[in-house]
Amino acid sequence: MESLDSEGGQAQRTNRDVLTLPVLLLNRNFSPVSVATVRRAFVLLYGGSARAVDDTGETYDFGSWLRVPIRTRDDGLPIIGSEVRVPRVLHLLRYDRAPRVIVRLTRRNLMIRDQFQCQYCGRRPTVRDLNVDHVLPRSRGGLDSWENLVVSCRPCNLRKGRRTPGEAGMALLSVPHHPRWSTATQIRLVMREPFEEWQPFLQTA
Ligand SMILES: [Zn+2]
Repeated sequence: MESLDSEGGQAQRTNRDVLTLPVLLLNRNFSPVSVATVRRAFVLLYGGSARAVDDTGETYDFGSWLRVPIRTRDDGLPIIGSEVRVPRVLHLLRYDRAPRVIVRLTRRNLMIRDQFQCQYCGRRPTVRDLNVDHVLPRSRGGLDSWENLVVSCRPCNLRKGRRTPGEAGMALLSVPHHPRWSTATQIRLVMREPFEEWQPFLQTA
């Protein structure tokens, strides 16, 4: 999901690669809901529960999408004796729920939440020199949770050892919390270089 070629990659993609490319799904109100594969997108489009959205915002059903020309920067897929442009954005006609916002607890998301900054000393070394620290050490029952994990530099991590910040005489820069990111923000964070066609929908949040 994170290895999109920024340019010039299209020509080398095989059909199988193309089928796994990401397509942005919008709910009925044109808010981003999630990202699906091209394979899934065509199922939705063909089944009539979604319309393809082009970069001007115009929407198409499957039949009219087949007649949309393929430009050099597009990906194409062979389909019923012809080739069809791969949509980058899909409008779900019957989905009007707002997406549930669940930010996964990962090392990368922790880094983003803490802005790549040691939460004890405030330094910003390279990512490789940052650890994830259990505020209440795991050996003492500390959990893997948003509220108990912070980004820490190696020296602070060593200094703290198996103690609580209080015992070690170290203070946290901020209280660790579960981040509340919109779906658009999360998609932007995960897809470092999303397609140009996604931008209008991801900028709203
Ligand atoms: Zn530090």
